[in-house]
Order: sequence, then structure tokens, then C-alpha cells
Amino acid sequence: MESNRVAIPTLVRIKTGALGRMGIYLSRQGHRRVAVFQSEGLLDDITSRMRSGLLSASIEPIVWANVATNEFERAISYFTDLPRSVTAIVGLGGGKALDLAKYVAFLAKLPYFAAPTSLSNDGFASPQSSLTVGGKRKSLAAAMPFAVVIDTEVCKGAPKYLTLSGVGDLVAKFTAIEDWKLAFHHAHEPIDDFAALLSDGSVHAFLARPILDEEGIRLLGTSLLFNGIAMEVCGSSRPASGSEHLISHALDEISANPRLHGLQVGVATYLISLLQQHRTDVIARVFDKTGFWEAIKAEPLSRGEWLEAVRRAPTIKEGFFTVLSTRDTLPEVEKALQTDKWLAPCFVD
Ligand SMILES: [Zn+2]
Repeated sequence: MESNRVAIPTLVRIKTGALGRMGIYLSRQGHRRVAVFQSEGLLDDITSRMRSGLLSASIEPIVWANVATNEFERAISYFTDLPRSVTAIVGLGGGKALDLAKYVAFLAKLPYFAAPTSLSNDGFASPQSSLTVGGKRKSLAAAMPFAVVIDTEVCKGAPKYLTLSGVGDLVAKFTAIEDWKLAFHHAHEPIDDFAALLSDGSVHAFLARPILDEEGIRLLGTSLLFNGIAMEVCGSSRPASGSEHLISHALDEISANPRLHGLQVGVATYLISLLQQHRTDVIARVFDKTGFWEAIKAEPLSRGEWLEAVRRAPTIKEGFFTVLSTRDTLPEVEKALQTDKWLAPCFVD
């Protein structure tokens, strides 16, 4: 067995006011001209924090693009149009802009500075980019960000459902690791011990204090960052994504009203934990304490769609062994959606 060489972010700042200091971080690395890709519709206050931070450090943003979609084809054209004097790429905002910026940086072989303004999933620090290719969602290999800059004050000000989505994506590590162990026992898929440990351990920092104040945001950001690194360690998404993610991907395909990634994943995590008979109480408690269940109940999910998504889930990723591969789980799922204390109120027929 060969030993691991792992790319990790070189610069990590998770603190109040970090966004306004982006210019300083860039200038310390010798950058003068950068390209910024930001989410369309981002609050003016956030954009101006970044802009004035760059200005005061004499950093020139010679590209400043508003990103509304995460199409692969868009990423290619941003890459081909990129001025040669750009030496770093900055991603500012949420999932789509960050995924696109990361991929442009990967194509251009330039350092990527990720500045998420909400913590809705673990994508900001993963070595993959989630893009659409010809309209279909694909997870493409990219590179780890050079820098991860999380302004806790800005992220705390993000809409609560976005943060709850991050909580959902975080607890998914419990079921993902359990699925990985099942794949090891049933299908001889090798487990990377350190990646599994890192992923599992990362959840506990937040679980010990599941409160969404600025300190909670700091812990959530740190935990999600460690998740991304766990994926890099083993070179696959196994430590972060199991059958709960398959269900969410199936919902994205069939649902009339797909919800945010981490919200779907969170509910699916609880459901899968019932099938795995593993850590169900811990997951229920963190969702209760953070208001996750309340947020789901406010816009209930379709029982029919979820049953169909569970039926489809094992076909989403070929050769990917999970608890859904061990038996026909549909009768258990149907019963849980009708009668489980936490799940039943989240669903309508
Ligand atoms: Zn996820």
C-alpha cells in the first residue's frame, strides 16, 4: 500500500470580519490581479465588504462575474476568456458560484480562494465541483481550495434555512460512514481508516454544541471543512456521502419542488439511520435543538415522491453498496414516513 499525499487548504480563516480581510490574504501571497465569481443576488453589503477589502490592499479584480448557474459550459467559457494577468480566483457566495469558481481555478491551474457566505453544504472545501453538463448534474474532479475564508458574522446573517441545510449535510457523515462499513463487509470495498475517522470526528465538534450563534457557525464551518478534507484523503466522496445522498439525488430528478441539498439530505439521513439502526437519537436531537424539524414541517415533503426516490436511489450510482442494497427497505421506509415521531409530521400525502 502506498502512503497518502493529501492536498489541504494552505490558508484557513474562520472568524468575524474575515471577508473584509480577503485583500490582505491575497496580497500576502503576492497576488495583484484576481477574478471574482460571486453568486447572483448576493446582498450589496457582502459584495462591498469584499470590494473595499480588495481595494484597501490594492488588489485589482479585473473580472467580477455574477454567477446564476453552475453549467460546465459556462465554466469553460469563463476559463477561455480569463485574462492572462489574473493570478488567483476568488469565489464568493453560495454553492453554484463556488463550484463554478473552483472549476475555473482548476482548469486555469490557479490558486482558488473560497469565501462562502452561508454554510449550506460541505462543497466549499471539497476537491470536487458539482456542475451541470448538458443539463445533468455531475460531480467533477477539481482541486482543493488554496484558501478557505469563512466570515462567521456574514454566515450567521445568512437565512436560517441555509445554515440548517449545512447541518443536514453534516450529520449525513454518520450514515455515509455506516454505509461505507457495510460496503466493506458485504462488497469488500476498502475503507480508508483515517478519512473515516476524520469525517466521523468532524461531526462531533458541532454536535457538542448545536447552537446557531456565531460560535456555532464557527464550529459548523470547521466541521464541514474537515469533511471536505476527508474526501480528499481517500479520493472519493465515500466519507461524506452515502445512501442519504442517493435519495437526495433521486429527489432532484423526480420532485416537483426539490428542496435545498442539505435539507433533503438531512431528512434522508434520519430515515437511513432508522434502517441502519445507528445513531438515530443523536440525529433527532441535533435536528430538534437547531430547529431543523420545524423548518421541514413549515413546508412538508411529499410521501409519494420520497417513496419513489428511495425506490430509485440504489440505481443512481452503479456498484455503490449501501444499506439500501442489503434488503428491500421500502416497507420499512413506508412505515417510518407514516408513523415515526419525527418523520410523520414532515410529510403529506
Ligand atoms: Zn452533501
